[in-house]
Amino acid sequence: MFSEMERRGNECYRMRMSESQYTGGCLCGKVRYRVTGIARNLCYCHCESCRRAAGSPSVPWATFERAHFQLLQGELTEYRSSPRRLRGFCAACGSALTYRSENRPTEIDVTLGTLDEPSRLVPQMHVWVEDKLPWVMIADALPQWPRGVGQS
Ligand SMILES: [Zn+2]
Ligand SMILES: [Zn+2]
Repeated sequence: MFSEMERRGNECYRMRMSESQYTGGCLCGKVRYRVTGIARNLCYCHCESCRRAAGSPSVPWATFERAHFQLLQGELTEYRSSPRRLRGFCAACGSALTYRSENRPTEIDVTLGTLDEPSRLVPQMHVWVEDKLPWVMIADALPQWPRGVGQS
């Protein structure tokens, strides 16, 4: 059992970590980015679109303020995966890096797997579980949403 002080300490620690600065980049290193501020909406997305974009059964994401996302090097190539959604990737190596929806113009999503220190941010839920592959076993107790957050 955590004492109240330990619990508060952990909360402060998490808060500090989630408000700090992150750097990341693609597999080949041509695209490098920095993002700061609070990481929100930490999730595994099981949707078909993420699956195909990354070639992976699910993709872990974090949402940041778009104004706090900065390219340090190279450029994002964007693919319009649906009319209002753009997926950013490296044109040289194909790493899936970002996602932005014109429905959320002030936000950008970043793939946790391309962070330089990916263990600093931990997914807090599963979304689009209705698209989850049958051989993917969710073995944690995190909340699961059939579609997006708040959508049933
Ligand atoms: Zn690359
Ligand atoms: Zn998705």
